[in-house]
Amino acid sequence: MRTPAYLLLLAAAGLVAAEGYTDTPLIPGTQWHVHDSARPQPPRADKEKLKCNLEKAPAGAVELITGTDSSANWEPDNGAKGKHWPIRDGVMFANGNGIHTKQSFGDLTLHVEWRSAEGYDKNEKKKGQGNSNSGIFFMRTYELQVLDCSRTETYADGMTAAIYGQQPPAFNACNPSREWNSYDVQWTAPTFDEAGKVATKARITVVMNGVKVQDGVEYIGPSSHRKNPPYAKHAAQLPLGLQWHGDVVEFRNLWILPAAKAAK
Ligand code: MG
Repeated sequence: MRTPAYLLLLAAAGLVAAEGYTDTPLIPGTQWHVHDSARPQPPRADKEKLKCNLEKAPAGAVELITGTDSSANWEPDNGAKGKHWPIRDGVMFANGNGIHTKQSFGDLTLHVEWRSAEGYDKNEKKKGQGNSNSGIFFMRTYELQVLDCSRTETYADGMTAAIYGQQPPAFNACNPSREWNSYDVQWTAPTFDEAGKVATKARITVVMNGVKVQDGVEYIGPSSHRKNPPYAKHAAQLPLGLQWHGDVVEFRNLWILPAAKAAK
């Protein structure tokens, strides 16, 4: 889409992000369009408070970055012809297609550390949605955005730690490019009634670099671009996905602690 001249002027004045849309549907319960150019950016977190959490996997957790490539724990999204993501010294590099875990999960605690793609901090063309874009897809359906917004901005509902297309984070808690960031997530899967209608919505709490940026926020539905599709019934447990968006984002120390099964 061509960005209207007035938005470019506002962006030049630092008032709005140049990226985004105003021709998309309104996000239910808000005054904002999906990826609204005019939606305010959240404040930057106090730099003193930002600290990448390096917590190791506790007992009972599933470690998902092991070996020399993703083949031990993950499948490529595009099947047998897809590429695995290489792992060197415990760091996994996004590579050519999305991947998803072999194991399925319902409610869980997740920890991951990630950093922006090499060289992007010195490349002025790498900005907005093109600055180290990946994503954590719970149940391969609901995205928690991974993006470097430390030095470039994008539409608020698509920035770092946004519930993509729905809810910006409370703070921009990015460490500088090429420094590691941590996400600590509590994920609650949606439930569906027998008719297939959503009974309880998916819910997420995210702490980024020690700062709470999403606090029990409900997903409106599955993540999408330029729209908010409705919930569609799915299994109670599904794989976790990592997005390929053209950028070699790096991940390490990714582990999941599945919630204890509720007594029946
Ligand atoms: Mg993404």
